[in-house]
Amino acid sequence: MEEANKEVAEIRNLNFLEEIIESDLASGKCESIMTRFPPEPNGYLHIGHAKSICLNFGLAKKYGGKTNLRFDDTNPVKEDTEYVDSIKEDIKWLGFEWENERYASDYFDQLYEWAEELIRKGLAYVDDQTQEEIRAGRGTVQTPGVESPYRNRSVEENLKLFREMKAGKYADGEKVLRAKIDMAHPNMLFRDPLMYRIIHAHHHRTGDKWCIYPMYDFAHGQCDSIEHITHSICTLEFDVHRPLYDWFIEKLGIFPSHQYEFARLNLTYTVMSKRKLLELVKNGFVSGWDDPRMPTICGIRRRGYTPESIRMFAEKVGVAKREQLIDLQLLEWCARQDLNERSNRYMVVQDPVKLTITNWEPGKVEWFDAPLNPADPEGPSRKVPFTGEVYIERADFMEEPPKKYFRLKPDGEVRLKYTYIVKCQEVVKDAEGNITEIRCTYDPSSKPGAGEWRSVKGTIHWVSVDHAKELELRIYDKLFTEPQMGSIPEGKDYKEYLNPESLTYGKGYAEPALLEDRSGIAVQFERTGYFFKDPDSTPEHPVFNKTVSLKDSFKF
Ligand code: ATP
Ligand code: MG
Repeated sequence: MEEANKEVAEIRNLNFLEEIIESDLASGKCESIMTRFPPEPNGYLHIGHAKSICLNFGLAKKYGGKTNLRFDDTNPVKEDTEYVDSIKEDIKWLGFEWENERYASDYFDQLYEWAEELIRKGLAYVDDQTQEEIRAGRGTVQTPGVESPYRNRSVEENLKLFREMKAGKYADGEKVLRAKIDMAHPNMLFRDPLMYRIIHAHHHRTGDKWCIYPMYDFAHGQCDSIEHITHSICTLEFDVHRPLYDWFIEKLGIFPSHQYEFARLNLTYTVMSKRKLLELVKNGFVSGWDDPRMPTICGIRRRGYTPESIRMFAEKVGVAKREQLIDLQLLEWCARQDLNERSNRYMVVQDPVKLTITNWEPGKVEWFDAPLNPADPEGPSRKVPFTGEVYIERADFMEEPPKKYFRLKPDGEVRLKYTYIVKCQEVVKDAEGNITEIRCTYDPSSKPGAGEWRSVKGTIHWVSVDHAKELELRIYDKLFTEPQMGSIPEGKDYKEYLNPESLTYGKGYAEPALLEDRSGIAVQFERTGYFFKDPDSTPEHPVFNKTVSLKDSFKF
């Protein structure tokens, strides 16, 4: 039977979490599913979190369940409401809605009650040892630990001391509450794990009410249980915590949430730890959390990636049980897929050389209709002004071209996109031999829609000199030079691998309609790439970030 189920799952291409959920629903183990996304509000979310968000919210959506957003705010020292707000904004932007917004701190009273309950059951005690003594007493994987001299305090004494801890009688580090399990347990986490520590610090939600705070292992599972989370999904490194997660739930006899682990997402040329990202921001290596080179969701958004492309990326990455390093180019591929379908097109020349049409009536402006998206030629269009002086890309002209060069060359013909065919008659140079002007004639009969379509091999983009709008372009490259940032040699600092060319500036000359674009997503600069208007833009000084180039070197 099990075999048969597995085969069906394979045919339907289910990932292991979907298999588990379908089986739990089928067996009646749960009636509906409830997941949660549990960020610690100590930094901005990154693409790894996006993966976890898509997974938690996506699974609930797929199986008619719900997802809570729960802030894991058990460490007041590092946490802040600035992060809470950004996290909520990022999840909404990704296109997900949470059922309830909760905080671990909402449950501090209940967690405290449960801690007393475990004390009363003889399963927890107050330890006066220092952090170092506790660490030393844990032993090693090979050798058992030693029991704390305070381990066998009476229930009454433990209750009294724990209440005094709560009341603020002791300084940070003076006492801790530990579960009383087994100092020789093969799983080190079972050697009397810490449940509570003293931190005299202001909490962004509970203020100064508490000076003892629960540890991860005594908070996460209990919060899951309170919220009736059926499938608590976390990353692989927590698999050793799972037995402890189950232990607390069992001893307290509360709602049996279960934990499942999947591989965290790693990307080439990227660091993902919040500590490192914070350091990049604090030390000015990037302009902020939303610097378009950052792997943060706000950085990615500013860069011009769409929520659709991030969700597509999460889907393609899939759910693995083993560590994975994903090629950054997959993310770019997803952005191209989405933007290719949806983005509006405009012509922008980045390295201009002037092309003059000698048989054009001086001063004449002719407006052409050009579709905003070629996939929808009958759809909305923009108006493009054509005159006798246009900019083309310097790279679209070659004086001594190789054989298969189909762009403009001496005596050659090319179509200026959406308009006429022009023929190169003369090249003008300055004293140093640089080309300053290309003189052409145009063929009036080659106007699109006027008579028979004459085709030439090359079509190039252009912008009318009189109408060109100057843009600042910010061109991004990988933030780091090393693909495997997770395995740099010991003794090396990750900052040594910062790419000095991760940001370069360019100029663009755009057709006027670009500045009227209201699509809200990145646009395509025809034949070049996708670009997204930066919030630094002003009407006088538009700034565009390069999202990704058109060219695709990614192979599945
Ligand atoms: P960091 O170690 O950088 O501080 P974190 O894992 O501690 O990150 P949390 O705010 O605790 O950050 O993470 C919230 C959720 O996102 C957790 O469930 C965590 O497992 C998940 N998550 C974090 N990083 C990744 C990643 N790279 N890939 C997949 N899921 C991740
Ligand atoms: Mg964490």
